[in-house]
Amino acid sequence: MVAASLVVIVVALLVIVTVVVVKVAGPKELAAVAGTGAPSAPASAAASVQPTAPPSPTPTVAPASASAAPPAPAGFDKTKYSIDDPNSIWFVVNKLRPIPDAANFVPPNLVDLPPDIPNPNGYQMRGDAEQAMATMFDAAKAEINTQLVAQSGYRDYGVQVDAYHTYVNLDGVAGADQTSARPGYSEHQTGLAMDILDTTSGCSTDGLCFSKTNAGQWLAANAYRFGFLLRYPADKTAVTGYEYEPWHFRYIGVDLATEMHNTGVETLEEFFGLPPAPDYAG
Ligand SMILES: [Zn+2]
Repeated sequence: MVAASLVVIVVALLVIVTVVVVKVAGPKELAAVAGTGAPSAPASAAASVQPTAPPSPTPTVAPASASAAPPAPAGFDKTKYSIDDPNSIWFVVNKLRPIPDAANFVPPNLVDLPPDIPNPNGYQMRGDAEQAMATMFDAAKAEINTQLVAQSGYRDYGVQVDAYHTYVNLDGVAGADQTSARPGYSEHQTGLAMDILDTTSGCSTDGLCFSKTNAGQWLAANAYRFGFLLRYPADKTAVTGYEYEPWHFRYIGVDLATEMHNTGVETLEEFFGLPPAPDYAG
């Protein structure tokens, strides 16, 4: 009996909704909304116009491959900056792409962070990345009332030697390779990466705690606006070689970050067509 009553109510609601939609939308819009419904007169008229568009008098021979390929997203030049030069903001470093001559590489224009940015370990960063990060920290304050923290920025080759060996002593080589870059393979040595936390959650650069915070979620959604990329996303370990690091952000500039955001490509490897780098070559 209850079921029967429900059926009656549902049918009645459907009738009401249909009547309202027809009155509000009118038959033409309704057909457009329905999509598969009978085309309204103007739509079919438009459709009949399209095929009669004047054929090109001198038809250019379009290559079959060009017409078969999906339209290339116009306007983005993937070769604008180098992905091989460690001085470039598009430089791609991963387990198969070490920093050339890493033991002697120091990025250009390293600067101290401004005093209003919490920087408990006194890290530096490249000047262009630092300015973008300061803007991002201000925006986090304004938009979610959160104070972000610059936890770990530029690490020189010697520091990375020490950090990696610390992890090797704790976890062995295989374990260390999952969490810490070998010397010469760290994005932190480019001066373009920052591990970012916040002042209130108590999360660290360990585990997934930060991904559940307002700050972590805001950064994941908004970092691109300031030219930053969440470099080691969840479920991309096979591509990046690193487990999910919700705190690690890499400056790549607003143009590239926005393009990746808009196209839904999450990693630099995939965007630039580079091979996945799940592990070191040897
Ligand atoms: Zn990091």
